[in-house]
Amino acid sequence: MKSKILLIGIDGLNLNSALEASPAIAALKDTAYFSELTMQPPTWSGPSWSTLLTGTTHEQHGVRDNSFMGHRLLYFPDLLSLAYYQDQSTTTFAAAGWPPLVDPAGHAPVIQERREQQKAFRHRVIVRDGETYGYTLIDAQIQDAALYAIGNHGPDVSFVYFCGVDEAGHVYGSVGPEYKEAIARIDTYVDNLLKAVQVRSEQGEPWLVVITTDHGHLDAGGHGGDTPQERASFVFAQGFGRPNPTWPQRIEPHDLTPLLIAERAG
Ligand SMILES: [Zn+2]
Repeated sequence: MKSKILLIGIDGLNLNSALEASPAIAALKDTAYFSELTMQPPTWSGPSWSTLLTGTTHEQHGVRDNSFMGHRLLYFPDLLSLAYYQDQSTTTFAAAGWPPLVDPAGHAPVIQERREQQKAFRHRVIVRDGETYGYTLIDAQIQDAALYAIGNHGPDVSFVYFCGVDEAGHVYGSVGPEYKEAIARIDTYVDNLLKAVQVRSEQGEPWLVVITTDHGHLDAGGHGGDTPQERASFVFAQGFGRPNPTWPQRIEPHDLTPLLIAERAG
């Protein structure tokens, strides 16, 4: 049976802070596949998520900043779309509160709309606006929608995105208690998602859960530059009802989507 894939994106997460403030994510250090990732500058969310989700470099997808002006994403489909094009029985789910990832209004989104598959319930998309309404509220809604989707639909390939950590980093910096509180909040959402996947895997479905981030945060808060702290990302990949993936010890950001597609093919 093909593995189902859940990719969890946590925007702006410094790994070292995560390992201190997030019991569920930190526990993966002992059981999951792990690789550091070094993101290509500029370390903005637009180019970084475009690379992670399409498996192409900044030069290829053409996303230079968060305006998405001049992008070539129509030629470089996202993970969910690639899985569908590979096998048209594939069901997909995306939930995000940062509109450029999922909202067809504007120049993006990175996750292609695929309206026909939405009408056929092969592709479900939850669009929220954390930029306007704040990520404390919106991330909680994203978690609820994702738990519902995993529990009731068990989509084959999912992307679930949280942005409250990045928001806290911008407002308070990345070394104070507010940043760690935001990480702890998202960690409980991740823990709940892992438990929902565990339940399904115990009913005989193999799942692969992957957690990553698009960039780090400077101590004072902020990113976009080319310092090691801003470029630092990571990948955890945990199998449920199946082994962990046998990926190379060290991978690049644009390797992630092709590796996940290969897990679907294999
Ligand atoms: Zn940010």
